[in-house]
Formats: sequence, C-alpha cells, structure tokens
Amino acid sequence: MTKIDLHVHTTASDGTCTPQEIVMQALQSDIIAIAITDHDTISGLAEAEEMAKGHDIEIIRGCELSTSNNNSEIHVLALWVPREGEHLKSLEDALDIFQDRRHKRNLSMLNKLINLGIPIKPEDFSQQKGLSLGRPHFAKKLVSLGVVNSEQEAFRQYLSVGKKAYVPKDTLSTEDAVKILSSIGATVVLAHPALIHCTPRELIELIEKIIPLGLDALEVYHSAHTDAEVREFVDITHRYKLLESGGSDFHCLDGHGGMQLGKGKGNLRIPPSILDALKKNRMDKGLPL
Ligand code: AMP
Ligand code: FE
Ligand code: FE
Ligand code: ZN
Repeated sequence: MTKIDLHVHTTASDGTCTPQEIVMQALQSDIIAIAITDHDTISGLAEAEEMAKGHDIEIIRGCELSTSNNNSEIHVLALWVPREGEHLKSLEDALDIFQDRRHKRNLSMLNKLINLGIPIKPEDFSQQKGLSLGRPHFAKKLVSLGVVNSEQEAFRQYLSVGKKAYVPKDTLSTEDAVKILSSIGATVVLAHPALIHCTPRELIELIEKIIPLGLDALEVYHSAHTDAEVREFVDITHRYKLLESGGSDFHCLDGHGGMQLGKGKGNLRIPPSILDALKKNRMDKGLPL
C-alpha cells in the first residue's frame, strides 16, 4: 500500500533523524510523498531534496510554525514553501525572527537551570543558523547530565508549562502567521487540532477567525488523533470547505511510542488522495508545486 506523510521532523529541529535518513526510511516504507516540516526552520529541506533526486519519492517543502492565540500554543504547518525569490526572502525574514526569539528564550531557560544548580553549559545552546533548538534539546541534556532519568521526567520536573525552568515562547500570533504564510503562496494547515488546549467551541472560533486570513486545510489525520476526532475534523472540513491534510509528526525512531513514518503508532491511515486534492487546489489557484 502506498503511503504519504505530510508532517515529519528532522535534526534541523527536534527530530533525531537527519533529512537524508528520513528520505532513506521513507523509500524503504513505500512512501511516495513526504513533507519535511521542522519547527520554525526550513534548513533541512535542501538536504532532503538532494537525497530524493533520482528516487521515486516526492519531497514537499514545509515547516511548522509555533504561534500563539489567546495564550495557547497553536502549530501552523506551511506546505510548498517557496523555493526562491521574494517570497522565500519574506519567509526567511519571518523565520529569523522566530530563531531570534527562540534563542532569547533558550538563554532564559538556561539561566533558570543554572540558578537551580544544574551544571549546564551556555555553549551547548548557542545560536546556530537554521537550527531550531528548544525544550527537547534541554530535555536530552538533562538526561545526559544525569539530572533526570528520562526526557519525560525532564518535562515533568523542569520544562513543561509552569515547571521550574519553563519560559513561555514569545511567538507570532496565529493570525499573523497565517497571513504571512498565505501571502507567500504556501498551503496553510492548522496542525493536530486535537492537541490544542481549548474547548471545541474555541477551536471553531479559531478556525472561523483564520479562514479569511488564508487557512487552507486541517490536519485531520495525525498520530495523536482518535478515530472519533478524525471524524469530527472531517466534518469540520466539510462544513467550512477546508482541505484535509495528514501526517505522523514523526520525531524519532524509538521514542514517541514506536512511531513510524506514514503509519504513526500503527493505526494512522493517511489517504493518499488528500495529497491530490491539496495539489489540485494549488493548481486551481495558479500556485507552484
Ligand atoms: P519548544 O518548541 O521548544 O517549546 O518545544 C516543543 C516540543 O517539545 C514539542 O514539539 C515536542 O516535540 C516536545 N515536547 C513538549 N512536551 C513534551 C513532553 N511532555 N514530553 C516530550 N516531549 C515534549
Ligand atoms: Fe516537535
Ligand atoms: Fe506540532
Ligand atoms: Zn510537528
């Protein structure tokens, strides 16, 4: 059975596989198309595209922006981000702002950990162009220093919202992010709606607010979505004439409960036809693929 996966992380953000390794694995898993969607960076795209050359796999250029709406974190996926020109420049400028804010936040978290007596070194979190360092990297460091036994424990004790070393992210509003992504001709997808901390009513309000700004699709299929949630989100796409998207949100091989590309935790079924619909929508709008 051919598969697609429109939400995948690499070492350019908090994934553990390099873009090359992701492409290799996708090829071994009968996957015909993957979107590389690292948090707040597009620096893994070129390597994935290079690796895919001459192989039967399509790489969709993407990224996942962390945005905020009414104090909750909303992830917005951009698919088919521009390859060149003014639109690429606009995206890079926006991502530079994200990187800068991440860097400042990392320094604040670092200071909190140092003040807690943890021997963590500032140079481990120095800014590196195009690399999205964040809480998962702090979690790994706390494990390697022996401060905690697992990354989960690092989040529980230090890094989750409200914990000892947590610092909120100063991000773009969801509205501004959708506007920017739409203006540069990306396909704009609201990521994993079931993971948003809000009521069903608030989710609908958010969707209604960002549709006029350029929202194209809902990430209906996702590793963390139950069958009931998938049905609910399909209904919403019908009601609001949105497209469907879907991806595993793959981060690593052995963590995240044995996640697999294109299959999630085993029961994820992403219909390849949704990719055709997303592409048709772009062609109808005269946008490049
Ligand atoms: P950041 O963007 O730096 O705030 O980090 C967010 C990322 O941390 C998410 O995309 C997840 O990959 C990871 N994360 C958040 N909460 C947890 C948790 N409780 N356990 C493991 N990873 C988590
Ligand atoms: Fe992540
Ligand atoms: Fe996400
Ligand atoms: Zn993701």
